[in-house]
Amino acid sequence: MNDTERYDFDVVVIGAGGAGLRAAIEAREMGARTALVCKSLLGKAHTVMAEGGIAAALASVWPEDNWEVHFRDTMRGGKMLNNWRMAQIHALESPDRVLELEEWGALFDRTPDGRILQRDFGGHRYARLAHVGDRTGLEMIRALQHRAVSIGIDVFMECKIVRLLQDGAGAVNGAVGFWRESGRFVTFGAKAVVLATGGLGKAWKFTTNSWECTGDGMALALWAGADLIDMEAIQFHPTGMVWPPSARGLLVTEGVRGDGGVLKNRDGERFMFNYITPFFAAETAESIEEGDQWYTNKKDFRRPPELLPRDEVARAINSEVKAGRGSPHGGVFLDIASRRTPEEIRRLLPSMYHQFKELADIDITTTPMEVGPTCHYAMGGIRVEADTEATTVAGLYAAGEAAGGMHGSNRLGGNSLSDLVVFGRRAGLAAAERALQTSGVQELSETQVADVTRHATSYFDNEGTEDAYAVHRALQETMQALVGIIRVESELLEAKERLAELAERASKCAVEGNLQFNPGWHLALDLESMLAVSNCTTLSAIERRESRGGHTRDDYPGFRPEFENVNMITRLVDGEYVVAQEPKPQMPDELAKLFEEGAH
Ligand code: FAD
Repeated sequence: MNDTERYDFDVVVIGAGGAGLRAAIEAREMGARTALVCKSLLGKAHTVMAEGGIAAALASVWPEDNWEVHFRDTMRGGKMLNNWRMAQIHALESPDRVLELEEWGALFDRTPDGRILQRDFGGHRYARLAHVGDRTGLEMIRALQHRAVSIGIDVFMECKIVRLLQDGAGAVNGAVGFWRESGRFVTFGAKAVVLATGGLGKAWKFTTNSWECTGDGMALALWAGADLIDMEAIQFHPTGMVWPPSARGLLVTEGVRGDGGVLKNRDGERFMFNYITPFFAAETAESIEEGDQWYTNKKDFRRPPELLPRDEVARAINSEVKAGRGSPHGGVFLDIASRRTPEEIRRLLPSMYHQFKELADIDITTTPMEVGPTCHYAMGGIRVEADTEATTVAGLYAAGEAAGGMHGSNRLGGNSLSDLVVFGRRAGLAAAERALQTSGVQELSETQVADVTRHATSYFDNEGTEDAYAVHRALQETMQALVGIIRVESELLEAKERLAELAERASKCAVEGNLQFNPGWHLALDLESMLAVSNCTTLSAIERRESRGGHTRDDYPGFRPEFENVNMITRLVDGEYVVAQEPKPQMPDELAKLFEEGAH
């Protein structure tokens, strides 16, 4: 086929973060010949950056914890927009997935009597995050990778997939990519493809996300005709570094607050007490008392207001800064120094200690950190069926941050790592089942492959002064300023216009040099994905005329009943992005009862 390299597998998994690795392990263990393709090196996926922990109702610290409470916390955190079935599966299966990681070699921190230690995180009723200091993602990837390699999964590293291939009936039957080092193209024939390509944060100026997070999987799905869901739901993590500029956006883990850190404004006031909202407080808080802790109606159950869900903390910080009570560099102060001994801080939060020492020359054992909101996580993504992770296109599955639905309009911390292994496993299982029922080798369309390679290399033929770096910067400015933490219709409409102009400019980007490791060319291709997902986010944000979770509309504050039961679906129709409101799946009565007053 042309002069591209070709490989054939039963299942091709695109992405080697937690979701992709877990999907590939499952598919391989089902007996499917499985490939794992990733655009960075194996072991370097964004998941390694995860710090605070993996949420699962193991009940090793709080015996009262169970899947129903975890389910309810997740739905409440997502402001009830979550796909209830995904949230249920997640809560039910995450303990087994954590224990499985332990079996595969992940060494979680322990309680004094040897059980898995669980840490407090925002929105979780009980301390629920299994963790390895503040390096949980690294340990998780290490264990999964060891398992994947030991069972004989073929790994294709530093290979970026640019388009999916489809048979005459529209089913996905392969993918085309290129080796980042040589620029040579490669095709994969597959009976099923799993997208596990992670998030899209690189479209925003301040983000915790790594360079890989350019929304590729969501764009690949969209271009293949699949639906995206609730793309307006972007989580701005409340605590990113705000200083120095070179480190701006880097995550300051919620573990700092989970381990006792408190937020203060310029005047030294612990301002979060002023932002406890009825939605969250109704369930847990009977009274808010003066002083250190927020006491709740549960005996012995206390939570500081810094552990409200992330959207609420992010908005509170935003309000303090807007009101002129911010820190010198435009954030607020996060103080753990006055709450823990230096030894405890260094032991509990070693990465944070080093991050601030090395990047900002600040010793967090003596000095408060300056922090502010940063684009962190995409709750929206590829629309999947809850039990199988099948997308709306045959042969295509999705899991992890690339997929949407599980977290509704706001994700609780720790619920992503558990999402990756719960739904990664299910996607691998369903993809393998489909593949093993399909015989023969996939016939790939030479025309499709030729079109993809011609389009991808067309940037070398462009003339003029437009360059991918400038367009990327303009995109990030646009998304940060107009589709950021607080949104308003006029700005969203302006963003839509600017995105159309940027797409025009992006198509004219001229790339110099040749195919061999050419970052300008790589960025031009990444821009295609970032523009696609930015358009979907903007359209959905215009359409959801209310504030819910990570999506805050200044012109439509608060929830609105007409949007309570709808998902925003974006898709491509005749080359145009369109958005439609579709009813969200209704929760069965036996689960709805868990939300009634007095339910435990
Ligand atoms: P990723 O880990 O992002 O992996 C994506 C993979 O896809 C990579 O291998 C990449 O190379 C590949 N890829 C992408 N595009 C292509 C392409 N076109 N072709 C080929 N390969 C491609 N969540 C928690 O639950 N707990 C935490 O404590 C926590 N801490 C976090 C800390 C930080 C700093 C950040 C940024 C996030 C944190 N999160 C946490 C969120 C969580 O880490 C991510 O949501 C999760 O790791 C995403 O995993 P994933 O498997 O979906 O994708």
